[in-house]
Amino acid sequence: MPDETVSLEEYWNDAATAIKEALGESDYATWFSRVHYDSSSEGVLRLKASSTYVLETVSARYSDIIIQKVSECAGFPVRIEFTLKKSEPSPKKEPRKEEQSPAMAPAPAPSKKEGRARGSEMLNPAYTFDSFVPGENSLFPFSACRAIAENPGGSYNPCLIYGGVGLGKTHLLQAIGNQIVQNSKLKVLYVTSENFVNEYINAVNTKTTVQFKNKYRRTNVLLMDDIQFLENKDQSQTELFNAFNDLYDSGRQLVFTSDRPVSELKNITERLRNRFARGLNVDIQPPEYETRMAILRRKAQEKNFHMEEDVLDYVAQNVKSNVRDLEACLTRLVAYSELIGRPVTLEVAREQLKNSISVSIDRSTASVANIIKCVAEFYGISPYDIKGKSKKKSIAGARQIAMYLARKQTDFSTTEIGTEFGGRDHTTIMYAIQKVESALTVPNSETQAVINRIMTIIKAGDRQ
Ligand code: ADP
Ligand code: MG
Repeated sequence: MPDETVSLEEYWNDAATAIKEALGESDYATWFSRVHYDSSSEGVLRLKASSTYVLETVSARYSDIIIQKVSECAGFPVRIEFTLKKSEPSPKKEPRKEEQSPAMAPAPAPSKKEGRARGSEMLNPAYTFDSFVPGENSLFPFSACRAIAENPGGSYNPCLIYGGVGLGKTHLLQAIGNQIVQNSKLKVLYVTSENFVNEYINAVNTKTTVQFKNKYRRTNVLLMDDIQFLENKDQSQTELFNAFNDLYDSGRQLVFTSDRPVSELKNITERLRNRFARGLNVDIQPPEYETRMAILRRKAQEKNFHMEEDVLDYVAQNVKSNVRDLEACLTRLVAYSELIGRPVTLEVAREQLKNSISVSIDRSTASVANIIKCVAEFYGISPYDIKGKSKKKSIAGARQIAMYLARKQTDFSTTEIGTEFGGRDHTTIMYAIQKVESALTVPNSETQAVINRIMTIIKAGDRQ
């Protein structure tokens, strides 16, 4: 007989490992970092979720797997209930709109020089929440950014949005800025981390570091784009770390974007990494078919361009990489119809997009990405290392093997493979192939053994 009076906490902890394995690191971290054990009695496990959104999503998506894993660990059927975590009565962290914390009092009006953007870079007025088409892939980051814009310095502070290129990170980050600038007198500072580094270097050279420091402490909202650029920039990291602490301690809002999760950021000091990881980390995924259709429809409408359903479908079926590529295809079709003065039929679209689409064909792109993933897995490094710039011997060697396999196992040209490997020149790919081929001519080649083992990993993945 199962002892249903026991606490289920231990089983929940054990099950968490199994759930993590089943879902993968990323999904697990996204959702289960916001769901915690609450209490249990008579075979019912109560979990508390950090927000209604988390509660709804986790219970809709993951109830089955939670029940299954916890029941397996417990050895008897367990039921689950979700409750909403009561928010801590922290006036600083949850300022109501009308009674915001003193830290969120408007900063002094911007000087004329700073202009309307109240920042070091102008906000693009086109990047608003209205012009963003949310889909399954982006609903969570979209909702988080909207909540932040409604209540800066509130519950989601700091926040990090991460994901690949062209998926809308900058758009969402700036939408936060645009909305806050429009609805309040709060001071918003939007900066790419590249410009932050440049400004800092410039401040050091011109002995104006005091002004630099002041600027980054006198803002109510700091929006920093592409923090992966801070890798290896130690001094700038220190500056950001100090600014972060000052802003955060006084309840100001911080939002960052990155092209990878914090765990994949290399050469960022541990203390800064901890700051980024604190708060809400949300990923943005490539849009699925329905969202690609919705985005295309919306963008075509904005351009007053009539797009036939079959053309829409053709583009949405084929351009799967990201929204920037979708926009580029649409721009090309609009230009064609304006300049040539003919309607865009499916045939025209096929002809016009054949080059862009060949790079986006999912089958090959996926398999290059998969090869990179499998090679990374074999060497115990990250796919970002393989696509990245590190010249470390171990990484460069793995990269060459991945390039070689990409050429042998897919239909991609060396130019296209170069694109997939972080925008490298085709000569780099050719060189890598030659190197690997020459290593393969050695009798009992170690390289051949490595390739065989990687191929086993790739094939195992194919069968799944
Ligand atoms: P990232 O910063 O992630 O590389 P961007 O924010 O620059 O991507 O987005 C690339 C382009 O795609 C921009 O023009 C942006 O407006 C557009 N875009 C991205 N996602 C969406 C979306 N969901 N709805 C509408 N436009 C989008
Ligand atoms: Mg961007």
